[in-house]
Amino acid sequence: LEVVRSVEPRIADAIAKELNDQRESLKLIASENYASPAVLLAMGNWLSDKYAEGTIGRRFYAGCQNVDTVESVAVEHAKALFDAPYAYVQPHSGIDANLVAYWAILADRVEVPHLKKFEKRQINELTDAEWAELRQAFGNQRMLGMSLDAGGHLTHGFRPNISGKMFDQRSYGVDRSTGQIDYAALRETAREFKPLVIVGGYSAYPRKVNFATLREIADEVGATFMVDMAHFAGLVAGKVFTGDHSPFPHAHIVTTTTHKSLRGPRGGAVFAQPELSGQVDRGCPMVLGGPLAHVMAAKAIAFAEARQPSFQTYAQQIVTNSQALAEGLTKRGVQLVSGGTDNHLVLIDVHPFGLTGRQAEQALLDSGVVTNRNAIPQDPNGAWYTSGIRIGTPALTSRGLGVAEMDQIAELIHTVLAGTTPDATSKAKFHLDPAVADRVHKQAHELLAGFP
Ligand code: PLP
Repeated sequence: LEVVRSVEPRIADAIAKELNDQRESLKLIASENYASPAVLLAMGNWLSDKYAEGTIGRRFYAGCQNVDTVESVAVEHAKALFDAPYAYVQPHSGIDANLVAYWAILADRVEVPHLKKFEKRQINELTDAEWAELRQAFGNQRMLGMSLDAGGHLTHGFRPNISGKMFDQRSYGVDRSTGQIDYAALRETAREFKPLVIVGGYSAYPRKVNFATLREIADEVGATFMVDMAHFAGLVAGKVFTGDHSPFPHAHIVTTTTHKSLRGPRGGAVFAQPELSGQVDRGCPMVLGGPLAHVMAAKAIAFAEARQPSFQTYAQQIVTNSQALAEGLTKRGVQLVSGGTDNHLVLIDVHPFGLTGRQAEQALLDSGVVTNRNAIPQDPNGAWYTSGIRIGTPALTSRGLGVAEMDQIAELIHTVLAGTTPDATSKAKFHLDPAVADRVHKQAHELLAGFP
């Protein structure tokens, strides 16, 4: 840090402060974790200085022998970890991984009139009319993905993301009474809508998904089946989600982030059946710039770590902790979406406390409990204020907290939610007795001191 400080002390201070904040607050954001020192060190080094556009052994730059080694080792571990026939580890993030996958699916599935004619020509030789023909063929394709309020992600065809502009999207959701995916309704929608692609996966759904059923539906309507396992990749890697509940081998194409439950560096990856691999390999330069060799090195370390038996114990403990947290909240009268959890996250409905998600999120933060607000099914407060709080256990499980601590955390969360009074004039303002916030902060601090 002193080297950084000699150039710009404010950056050194922010880094040091971030470490301190992460040590001292209850990190319950479901998409966050603590990467190992090996992952962090593999990322902060001279590989960062190298350009290596292209694929392993076929680069557009000279001198890529070390990047080739790094990418090959990352691919080797990734394939072994998920028992996948093909892996692409270049995507810089989850969004990028999804873009690579969408392009691969479009290129594989969409019949472009006279495509052969285009293939034989250099792209810069196409006339404007030919370009228009190409664009028309790729536009307006259909996607069926999970709705945002049921826990889907923006990249699954929603307007603020480019996927919502690339695809005509229809959503599937959850059954009102169970809070779980309504497979019969999903099948009906798929039959009627006939999507080119069905996307499984989520950011805020607390239950297992039956991927075998989704594949069956995709086959019935002739769709390509993609799973975005960004959130639960660690549970797949750790063999908690197996059989029908693993995307492998049911999905044609699987995308992930590497930094959530998988506990690697910030980044993405794509896995595919062999028939799609050629298109996925074109991710760079189709939608990606030069690969981040330093991050691929850190992905290789994270995949190797996840292949250790201890990672399976970790993944199981994530779910055990999540269920303990759900039970601790339920017994204190807190209402949970779907009544519980099968995975790493719990979704609290804060409506019964008279609060919006925004108020609850800030009240918890003021008390040293870091969570995020989230929409819940049929949310009356919309995507900005919301009525839910999403909490997840991957990070605290990495620190070694267990079932007993989850019950204490449930008590802290309940204390804050029950002690917060909404301001009648605003969906963002609230009152929380500072003495309560201080007490919870202190208790959270003491709890974490046992898990440095
Ligand atoms: N897909 C899902 C399901 C996610 O939850 C997220 C992140 O929140 C992403 C994709 C995007 O990942 P990134 O932030 O790395 O682009």
